[in-house]
Amino acid sequence: MGTIQFSLASKTYPGGVLALENVDFTVGEGEFVALLGPSGCGKSTLLNLIAGFEKLSGGQMSFNGDAVAKPGPDRGVVFQEASLLPWLNVWENVVFGPKVQKTPRDIYEPRAREILRIMGLEAFHEALPVQLSGGMRQRVGIARALVMQPKALLMDEPFGALDAQTRLSMQELLLDIWQSLKTTVLFVTHDIDEAILLADRVCVMTARPGRITREIPIDIPRPRS
Ligand code: ADP
Ligand code: ADP
Repeated sequence: MGTIQFSLASKTYPGGVLALENVDFTVGEGEFVALLGPSGCGKSTLLNLIAGFEKLSGGQMSFNGDAVAKPGPDRGVVFQEASLLPWLNVWENVVFGPKVQKTPRDIYEPRAREILRIMGLEAFHEALPVQLSGGMRQRVGIARALVMQPKALLMDEPFGALDAQTRLSMQELLLDIWQSLKTTVLFVTHDIDEAILLADRVCVMTARPGRITREIPIDIPRPRS
């Protein structure tokens, strides 16, 4: 569950930009992998492919052994900005996905309540996104992904817009969540400290064409909050 696999994967965008070339890349079940590299090396492209937002140009890609055709609730995506629905409060934003999926209320309600508690948002159910700080909005964004019980969390610079202090607390929170849920995490960042702090394995990418050039296992224990 939650296994990501790319084999000789290439991506050429319309207009001819070769964003990825011959990428072999695997993320195992429950693994936390960081994709690290400079701007433009293809990190987001790789994430958007496995999320189902982009189509592969060559090679193969699978999630849990199945070819990826479109986005699905088994892959939760978190971007730099949570892009919450501004007219809905925190609770409504988080239960929006389960409602669209026609999940029964007696299933999604306790689940949403529990996730909002874990994310430290218990007191903010009624708040509108505009009333929240960037860090709190990002917590809602993560809660919105987790409420769908994804097999993998795909995170694209999720803390990139946050101040240093907030970033640190969000990194600790993410590690706590990951350690209890054991969901697969693919985490895109250009911050080497963040990659080493969070991941089991750091995959270093280089640009032109986008490739994974190094895979570094991180054996040092994680900090416990
Ligand atoms: P990163 O996430 O590492 O910054 P991206 O995956 O966003 O890199 O981009 C990889 C390359 O693909 C860059 O050269 C970028 O300009 C190009 N690219 C990304 N998205 C598109 C797109 N939608 N259309 C055309 N080119 C794109
Ligand atoms: P609907 O929009 O169809 O009324 P919701 O999914 O918004 O349904 O669910 C409303 C229920 O969610 C309430 O009965 C309540 O039990 C629960 N709930 C808990 N906290 C909140 C909150 N802060 N805002 C809205 N509903 C909440």
